[in-house]
Amino acid sequence: MSQPLLSLSGVCRHFGALKAVDDVSLDVPAGARHALIGPNGAGKSTLFKLITGAMPVTAGRVALAGADITRLPEHQRARRGISQTLQHSSLFLTQTVLQNVLLAAQRQHSSRHSLVPRRQAGARERARALLADVGLEQRASTPVAALSHGERRQVEVAVALACEPRLLLLDEPAAGMSPAESARLVALLKSLPASVTLVIVEHDLDVVFALATSVTVLHLGRVLLTGSPDEVRASAAVQEAYLGT
Ligand code: ADP
Ligand code: MG
Repeated sequence: MSQPLLSLSGVCRHFGALKAVDDVSLDVPAGARHALIGPNGAGKSTLFKLITGAMPVTAGRVALAGADITRLPEHQRARRGISQTLQHSSLFLTQTVLQNVLLAAQRQHSSRHSLVPRRQAGARERARALLADVGLEQRASTPVAALSHGERRQVEVAVALACEPRLLLLDEPAAGMSPAESARLVALLKSLPASVTLVIVEHDLDVVFALATSVTVLHLGRVLLTGSPDEVRASAAVQEAYLGT
């Protein structure tokens, strides 16, 4: 077995008496499309924060490509290739779509290379290409504040990809998207290179089962099951806890 890209061992996050994330262990192989599902309050967004470093763990270990990153601050984890979209937007509303993506692309270039003009030009081309990928070429000059909810989510995905992530975490990216927008998102995520490992939290199970190579079901902060999409669909425990049947 090759080394997992992301490895969680006994990860916990408590808020007082509430065990929001409770002893979660999980290995995500490089190149996986891993989905994290579970009812509201299961701990999915909190688990993402423990992976990105937005929040410290109460206990346990987070490793990226074999390196222990549990104590690293968020910006250092980002530099190592962890990129995310949040359940709640973090875009600059008064800036245009292109400016938002460009900012992320330039930040990426300046953190990996010295900030020479040639690199800046590269960032602009890359930002435009990403907007085309998410289907927002026509909206490049539009302030984010004027976009629909679904379009904003598309911009967030473009921003996350502009960081050239090794590990891309998407928290409910299809929420509020039209069926056409979410189909486009699925197509985009399917076309990501194998160098990007994807972990996606998504309520829309059509999106989950269209994409995922493996699925973890969280329930009350604990892992109920990790398995193939077919195993998860077939699990009686999952049906009961999550699918409500
Ligand atoms: P999910 O994303 O699966 O819906 P969350 O990770 O957002 O779940 O939340 C898991 C649990 O932790 C919920 O009961 C939520 O109310 C609680 N929680 C999340 N963040 C905090 C916080 N900062 N302080 C206290 N409780 C929190
Ligand atoms: Mg959430």
